[in-house]
Amino acid sequence: MSIDPLQQEVVGVKGIGKQKADDLLGMGIRTVKDLFQYFPYRYEDYGVKKITEVSHGDKVTIEGKIYSDPLLKRLPNKKNIVSVRVVVDQFVITATWFNRAFLKNQLKAGRPILLTGKWDKYRLQITVSESEFLDRAVSTKKGNLLPFYTIPTNMNQQGFRKIMMQSLQQFGLAIEEYLPQDIIDQYKLYTLREAYQAIHFPKNTQDGKLARRRLVYDELLFYQISLQLFKKMNRENWEGIERNIDLQQLIPLIKTLPFELTQSQKRVLKEILHDMSQSYAMNRLLQGDVGSGKTVVAAITLYANFLTGYQGALMVPTEILAEQHLDSLKEILTPFGVEIGLLTGKLTEKQRHQMLGQLQMGMIDVIVGTHALIQEDVQFHKLGLVITDEQHRFGVEQRALLRKKGDEKTPDVLYMTATPIPRTLAITAFGDMDVSTIDEYPAGRKKIETYWVKPDTFPRVLDFMEKQINQGRQAYVICPLIEESDKLDVQNAIDIHAALIQHFPQYQIGLMHGRLHPKEKDEIMLGFSMNQIQVLVSTTVVEVGVNVPNATLMVIYDAERFGLAQLHQLRGRVGRGSEQSYCILLADPKSETGKERMKVMIETNDGFEIARRDLELRGPGDFFGVKQSGVPNFKLADLIEDYRTLEVARKDAEQLIQNEDLWKQEKWSRLKKEIELLGLFQKKTVDS
Ligand code: ADP
Ligand code: MG
Repeated sequence: MSIDPLQQEVVGVKGIGKQKADDLLGMGIRTVKDLFQYFPYRYEDYGVKKITEVSHGDKVTIEGKIYSDPLLKRLPNKKNIVSVRVVVDQFVITATWFNRAFLKNQLKAGRPILLTGKWDKYRLQITVSESEFLDRAVSTKKGNLLPFYTIPTNMNQQGFRKIMMQSLQQFGLAIEEYLPQDIIDQYKLYTLREAYQAIHFPKNTQDGKLARRRLVYDELLFYQISLQLFKKMNRENWEGIERNIDLQQLIPLIKTLPFELTQSQKRVLKEILHDMSQSYAMNRLLQGDVGSGKTVVAAITLYANFLTGYQGALMVPTEILAEQHLDSLKEILTPFGVEIGLLTGKLTEKQRHQMLGQLQMGMIDVIVGTHALIQEDVQFHKLGLVITDEQHRFGVEQRALLRKKGDEKTPDVLYMTATPIPRTLAITAFGDMDVSTIDEYPAGRKKIETYWVKPDTFPRVLDFMEKQINQGRQAYVICPLIEESDKLDVQNAIDIHAALIQHFPQYQIGLMHGRLHPKEKDEIMLGFSMNQIQVLVSTTVVEVGVNVPNATLMVIYDAERFGLAQLHQLRGRVGRGSEQSYCILLADPKSETGKERMKVMIETNDGFEIARRDLELRGPGDFFGVKQSGVPNFKLADLIEDYRTLEVARKDAEQLIQNEDLWKQEKWSRLKKEIELLGLFQKKTVDS
């Protein structure tokens, strides 16, 4: 088997010596292939223009013949100007260079020359930034879109272009196509050779676009294939629980619900139950906006698991949430004989010990808890299903730990999240999982009316608040930080709390923030949920999942300091009952993006729409927070711009990997090698 010539080190390129090769290595370029994949970040147009078609003040490239001997003018401070007359398209113009005295001897009458610079229409003069004699060698610039690369300071663009051009000349014919011809034909793609040539030296804009199109497809296809392989490998490595789930048996429970399931809920339930009945271990993400009804889906899933004789666990990020879920689950599941337990950090040593014992003996069917669930000493009798709520708050390792709590077989795992993830991100960041989406709200849900006002209208906001409270409703007031910081002019929760106590002596005003003892937090939350507290001033700790249907007003201070996704999560704390709810954003954003965010909040209540707009405003890297985003840094592909290509690549990858016969065909063997070389996810597989 011959080795790919592009895997040669760059010293093999004519004109690249040891020193150059070292420089390139510093840029991450070891092989010729690395070099080809070092893509330009922009192009400049050196297409030759006619004098009659260029405009005053533009940067232009023109071609002409030197007409006169040059003139050198010395300026003070050792500066100088060289100028010469040039005939361009039958006009005589003046070309001037600053501080290029050495050119004087080369600017000989009669020589053809290419000039790039700023055009002065009134003086028929070009101030030259780059020039090239056309009688010496083949022009590297003339008529081209010239690439610009990210290069270190000891290199220059022209030098790097020469290296690239030389490599393409020398190795161009050795570039082996790895895509099967039928795919290239089907999508009318450039061949790899055409693409590498044109991404570096496009003949025109269209040429460059077609090159990019091909290479973006490759990049996304490789990534998606790696994900699919990873997913497949996981399925094969983790032996799941194969069981018979009888949908008929679930119907009595579903009938006791005070509402009809939405179509979305039914669909995701089918997807989940199908997974659970298969021999592989489920690894599924369930996403749905706040209030879309994930909890009841979780409850039914836990019930199905219970009916097949297994224990289930529901893991949540906070104690408050754990207790709330415990209540909801008890309401739905207790009548059907399901024993539910709670395991949080709040239990006394004795209570905990007792709970662990019951769990291990199988007296508890469903356990709800926080991180306390994944500690060493927590042993299950027969764990079959793990559900984690708000999965983005658990790290990958914590998730893996829970998965290992099953004995010889891997429990099914369902990750629930209320952060809607735009599809492009979901299939990239969570591409190794299956994704179920609840994309409708229960019927009769009222839109939360949202207003954006300047902070100085706070007195009017207070009047409105008073009206709401007098009608028996409750309000949240959210502030960004806990304590005043002189750097950031941020209203702090403590101050606002004090001010509200003064303003509303007749009401109970609560204060909630992350520095409180968990017990205090719980007491305050409980007081609020029982309407002993009418106004709750809080930092973002209320963000996740808490349910107080009687709260109909949310005021968010300094709303410009929050991201869109977070604003939407916060807003989701109201609008949970039958009354009309309101959200008031107090903000004075200075940036355009900031203003745009406020507008998005006013315009829509739809979490997916908000996520999509958020992605546009922030870019994929920032969407989850940089570190754990799980979204790779693509060289060329842009998840927003290239989402269509992504969809195509995703579909192609799925077909390939799911269809063994197809993937085994000889025509894919070259591409397989290419993907092996990339080595994506190999480490991950070993870890998990
Ligand atoms: P999520 O966890 O997705 O934020 P929940 O499961 O807490 O949402 O549901 C929000 C509210 O909607 C709950 O009060 C729940 O009882 C109710 N609900 C759920 N599904 C439906 C439905 N199909 N029809 C009407 N109400 C529903
Ligand atoms: Mg929820």
